[in-house]
Amino acid sequence: MRVSKISSYVRFINDVSQRRQPSAIREITGMLPSLSKDCIVLAGGMPNGDAFPLLSAQFRLRDGSVIDVDEAEMKIGLQYSPTDGYPPLMAKMKEFISRYHLHGSDAEKSDIKLRHIMTPGSQDALSKLLEATIAPGDFIISEKHVYTGVVSAAEPWQPNFLLVDSDGDGMKPEALREALSSWDPSECRKADSGVPKILYTCPSGGNPTGTSLTLARKKEIYGIAQEYNLLIIEDDPYYFLQFSDVLPPSFLSLDTDGRVVRLDSFSKILAAGMRLGCLSGPPEIVERIALHQQVSIMHVPTLLQIVFLKLLDGWGWDGFNRHVESVKELYQTRCNLALDACKKHLSGLAEWYKPGGGMFLWLKVKNVTDTRSLVMVDGVAKGVLCVPGEPFQPAATRKPTPYVRVSYSSASPEMIDEGLRRLAEVIKERHQK
Ligand code: PMP
Repeated sequence: MRVSKISSYVRFINDVSQRRQPSAIREITGMLPSLSKDCIVLAGGMPNGDAFPLLSAQFRLRDGSVIDVDEAEMKIGLQYSPTDGYPPLMAKMKEFISRYHLHGSDAEKSDIKLRHIMTPGSQDALSKLLEATIAPGDFIISEKHVYTGVVSAAEPWQPNFLLVDSDGDGMKPEALREALSSWDPSECRKADSGVPKILYTCPSGGNPTGTSLTLARKKEIYGIAQEYNLLIIEDDPYYFLQFSDVLPPSFLSLDTDGRVVRLDSFSKILAAGMRLGCLSGPPEIVERIALHQQVSIMHVPTLLQIVFLKLLDGWGWDGFNRHVESVKELYQTRCNLALDACKKHLSGLAEWYKPGGGMFLWLKVKNVTDTRSLVMVDGVAKGVLCVPGEPFQPAATRKPTPYVRVSYSSASPEMIDEGLRRLAEVIKERHQK
């Protein structure tokens, strides 16, 4: 039966998360920005800003321009702020999501309701989402090789994984349908409670495979998610690093039911160390994450949110587009160099797909069933370090793989070539053993 608009999210929220209650102090902090100017605030535990030593700051940009954080802004930046995010930045994030994922329309005007919350990168949001949704035995549906950050974050909650075949265009819809229709509850770790309910996807330049889902596949997968009433976690840190001329629509932009939770990360396009991400999704789900965040990090550092907002305001959306285009070009050039080096050194020794974006090449080494020691021992001895495919699998079904993840993001062009030459040497030596 096809489930359309989701009317209840109870199925997706586990008992632990249901028990989370608002933190009274955080709720009060959230009211501060909207108070009238003459309201005397004797609430909460705001430290006195006069005791803070930093007064103002200046950031110099690569293009020669400057971002000034003046004394008034610094005062705000050094204080506690609302859990969902610094309000002026949240208004900007709404615009961002609307621009890139809602065809420029307002979520409130479209069919689905959305709430946004700033998160310290997407990893923290991912961890909290899995913590809020997975009950022991529940199924996470993902590609056979999945981002290690999902595996490690999910496993303490004892999920099962329903692993789906993929190819150069990402997860295969027909394999997803097959996996769901032949799903056997008796194979669950806890057959009484486990149901497939979360579909995790890294749809653009996926980690570790580098593949991007086509729009046609996204539509098909979304349709299957409707049939099986799945919540889609769209973890999309490489969205702007896609090597296509036009950015394909995201799952969020296809969502008519309120079944997509989207994780945007600014790690790859602005700064990984600033820990800036934005989670957008159905208010019922985002609320669970906000309640958790109230009692964990409280909020993303206010000062960094202000710097981020000033950067976006200074650029305008056209400037932002120019910036992400230049980032994409940098990665695309590196990717092409890596592909050339693969062709030169690894032809006949390994197979690979052309990445759709992102930072990774996923090699399948021929005539090698386990790349672990090849990479970790022989490779290191030869002076090249990659990641073997094995850790990109859930622990319960982890087995040796012939895969190797090669990152072309930060090595110089010469090093990419030399690194892959060394990897080829190692493979040849292994073949001769
Ligand atoms: N998801 C995927 C697929 C990733 O590759 C990464 C970074 N390695 C993250 C999430 C986390 O990124 P961040 O927390 O820096 O946004």
